[in-house]
Amino acid sequence: MSLSELKKQFAEYKAKDLALNMERGQPSDADFDLSIKMLTIVGEKDIKTPSGIDIRNYPGGITGLKEARELFSKVIEVNLDEIIVGNNSSVKLLAEILMWSLVRGLKNSDRPWGSSGTRAKIIVTVPGYDRHFNLLDTLGFEMVTVNMTEVGPDIDEIERIASRDSTVKGLVFVPRYSNPTGDTVSAEVIKRLAGMDTAAKDFTIFADNAYAVHHLTDNPVKRLNLLQECEKAGNPDRVFIFGSTSKMTFSGAGIGFLGTSKENLKYIGGLMGAAAIGPNKIEQYRHVQFLSTYPGGIEGLMKEHAKILKPKFDIVDKILTRELAGTNLAEWTKPEGGYFVSLNTKKPAASRVVELAKELGVGLTPAGATYPSGKDPNNSNIRLAPTRPPAAEVEEAMTVVALCVKLADAEFDQNR
Ligand code: PLP
Repeated sequence: MSLSELKKQFAEYKAKDLALNMERGQPSDADFDLSIKMLTIVGEKDIKTPSGIDIRNYPGGITGLKEARELFSKVIEVNLDEIIVGNNSSVKLLAEILMWSLVRGLKNSDRPWGSSGTRAKIIVTVPGYDRHFNLLDTLGFEMVTVNMTEVGPDIDEIERIASRDSTVKGLVFVPRYSNPTGDTVSAEVIKRLAGMDTAAKDFTIFADNAYAVHHLTDNPVKRLNLLQECEKAGNPDRVFIFGSTSKMTFSGAGIGFLGTSKENLKYIGGLMGAAAIGPNKIEQYRHVQFLSTYPGGIEGLMKEHAKILKPKFDIVDKILTRELAGTNLAEWTKPEGGYFVSLNTKKPAASRVVELAKELGVGLTPAGATYPSGKDPNNSNIRLAPTRPPAAEVEEAMTVVALCVKLADAEFDQNR
């Protein structure tokens, strides 16, 4: 299609005065409605849990209610003595561990990571999650980027970087259904991460398993567990795994948790226990009551979410295939779980696509957000978040996105 024809279509869409948003990965109201009973599930009869804890009072410890640890340990596949269940955010837990690493060091550190005179480095995957980048940047870490591949972070690069530089202290990545690519780490990459030589003896993997059970298919592939593999490889303290119910029950009013070795847990629990007496046990028990009585438990609930989410992901793929397949203008991922689709324009036109879509009333995640400092060196990656809008809006928004990809590409050629 010629530039003038594309401009004409653009003008037609502009006249529609759309107001659609595919910017942030949030559940829809239909997803929230699945958990609505949770609001009232805990009452006066529940003030004492089966494990004998009064959920109104302080005692109970920093690691969280036993019933909550039992439930969520299965989500991230760790043992009962390897999990801390906290408050409403897994990113907050990640931030806490990183802060402690800077001011006190982790269990195997000789000194705090923030005390060496040079900025500690953390490897991150790109494209990746903007909140990870913002957190690491705000804490003063230097980020070293490696590519996210279909089998996980570029492990050759990680081995090379981590083995040579003792100021490289760790890796932050999403092991399952990565934000935004939807990629999942393979067994081989897990084993290599667990066993690789690192120049820093306190090199730590922060695995943000936010989408551990967020499958879009009926038969998700079973994956190796990073903590168990680290233990087998003789590096038991190498990993912290994070998870939450933000995309199971309520975002912002869910429960975050972390899994790590027993010894790490003792160390970090001691530090966390200096900052707080314990987490909100009423909220934890509400989740326990709701999720353990939901038909099919957490798995049953996640299947209900998949029924809402899968058609939206199918629409994204359907429209992109209809409009862009075979054009060589863009490629995109087809995730089997998680919350995002990652689209790459062939030409450096992502920021223009986002700008054009905004002009047509379709909000997209800012171009560059999937890279540290908001700078995509190829100006190519766009994160699509189809979960929040209803399916009909996803369809309209994606048609606009495809048009903007075509127009931005044609403009690029013309301006060259
Ligand atoms: N981690 C990843 C990879 C995410 O995509 C998100 C939300 O989009 C979060 C963490 C947020 O988790 P929480 O609400 O538990 O802090």
